[in-house]
Amino acid sequence: MTQQEKKQAEAIIRQPIILQDGGNHFESLEPKAGKKARLKVLSELYPDSELFRHWGEGLSESEQTEAQSLFMKFGYNVYLSDQLPLNRSFKDGRNPRCLEKMYPHQLPTVSVILTIMNEAMSVIQRAINSIIHRTPAHLLKELILVDDFSSNDELKENLGNQIQLYNFKYPKLLKLIRHTKRKGLTQARISGCKAAKADVVIVLDSHVEVNVGWVEPILARIQEDRTVVVSPMFGKIHFDTLEVEHYPLASIGFDWALWCLYDSVPESWFKLKDDTAPLKSPSIMGIFAADRQFLEEIGSLDKGMQVYGGENVELGLRVWQCGGKIEILPCSRIVHLERAFKPYAWNLGQFMRRNALRVAEVWLDNYKSMVYYYWNLPVENHGIDYGDVSSRKELRKKLNCRSFDWYLKNVYPSLKPIRNIVGYGTMKNTVDEMICLDQGPVSGKIPVMHICHGYETQAVFYFETGELYLGLLYDDRFSKNRCLVDPGQGSEPEIVTCSNVTRKGVHTHWDFKQGAAIINKDTKRCLEIQQDDTRSYTLILQECTGQVWNIQHIVQDWKNSQYRG
Ligand code: UDP
Ligand code: MN
Repeated sequence: MTQQEKKQAEAIIRQPIILQDGGNHFESLEPKAGKKARLKVLSELYPDSELFRHWGEGLSESEQTEAQSLFMKFGYNVYLSDQLPLNRSFKDGRNPRCLEKMYPHQLPTVSVILTIMNEAMSVIQRAINSIIHRTPAHLLKELILVDDFSSNDELKENLGNQIQLYNFKYPKLLKLIRHTKRKGLTQARISGCKAAKADVVIVLDSHVEVNVGWVEPILARIQEDRTVVVSPMFGKIHFDTLEVEHYPLASIGFDWALWCLYDSVPESWFKLKDDTAPLKSPSIMGIFAADRQFLEEIGSLDKGMQVYGGENVELGLRVWQCGGKIEILPCSRIVHLERAFKPYAWNLGQFMRRNALRVAEVWLDNYKSMVYYYWNLPVENHGIDYGDVSSRKELRKKLNCRSFDWYLKNVYPSLKPIRNIVGYGTMKNTVDEMICLDQGPVSGKIPVMHICHGYETQAVFYFETGELYLGLLYDDRFSKNRCLVDPGQGSEPEIVTCSNVTRKGVHTHWDFKQGAAIINKDTKRCLEIQQDDTRSYTLILQECTGQVWNIQHIVQDWKNSQYRG
């Protein structure tokens, strides 16, 4: 994978992926107002920098250099953040019906937890200020900052002082926990929850700002039912302009790689005809609120998670499978600074994969193989150390939790298992086993043979029904899977989006067995490779000459798997 591809892969992590629901209820999440008016401002010094695509007009060269270096350090526009007021208001994102709602004056108290790993001070201050000013003082018991061993000098020197300044004005409100080594965001959140004393804990990122009236709906809902784990609604603070943009209501789900995504709101919620009604959600994004003791009883967060990812889906599954609920409250909103990249680990995907396997092993029962397919790994002997999960398995037993099958049927029916995969991984031709079938450039439609590296572009999935998918596997909701086809004419195979294969004359089904030819079922042509003048191989469709292929992993015992049919 090239650096560029790596960057792209990282960039999609936890960025909102929207599943459309036929256009009935979903607004586009593209910013509307102001989009046209925005000028394309490319920096003279850094024409390729994302920072200057929509921002930075009129900056001198030295200002551009400063802004760019801060951007590379943090992944967002610290140069601008340092100039904006630390107290700012933004447009109330709530539905007007939320303003009519009355909440009890007596509500549970709250400990708000902010985890910090090399964030800019002005961004943290804006988060703190918004929480202090938009949370009723009699409810905000404490604000706990967990510094996950930041290396930035600014934080090392100044965070403690800043907290003292706040505490002059708001006695004992702010607390600081400093990790003496880097423990990752899950353990930072756990440290915050452990130290918390209020009835309810709300775990936030340190680059958020909260909307007016954000906390009352959360506390009132948890007061009504302590087994509800709540997510506020999200909006976005653009990483470059720091402008706030509110999102429409979405449910929070995930795909089989256990990457979270925004999912469509089910029809049943619209039928309630109440824009303020809680929305049941399969999972959380990471930010959540819970009754402190309830969270403790069900096992807090999984402290075996490393660096980033997995803990949110783990909590989602555990809450539902072990007797609680997850709800998104439309009247509670926060906005979150979406970074252009994460500055704290270049190899995040590796941690997400490892953490996803932990979740799969503990919570997914016999559906766990789906996660392995999506990460393109064999179910056994994959060589990835996902740590010790025995205590999490014991917890599941102790809490007498339901099966994942129950969860899929009752909580997340739109997450459909992909059935009938019989082989997956890289596909090699015995003529030269150094090269692998590869989807080629993502925008292209011509598959290629490429030196084997085993990354996503070389993932192949062969189905019992004869389809051959190339590249990352998506679930069917995305209509993004790419099928290898015989176009019926010419000698080049093509790639088409699998949901578009109705095009006339395109042949999608192949006969294949391990160590045998790949033969198109309709045209009877074989997929073979041919050496060209430059001594590299190209793929061709031709009358079979006896070339044979091998796929990396064969699915054992698929026919007997319990979730078939
Ligand atoms: N964080 C942390 N330790 C880490 C990585 C992140 O404490 O090793 C903090 C980070 O500063 C942020 C929160 O955890 O406040 C969530 O991380 P991030 O914002 O990168 O996740 P995202 O919002 O992109 O999912
Ligand atoms: Mn974040």
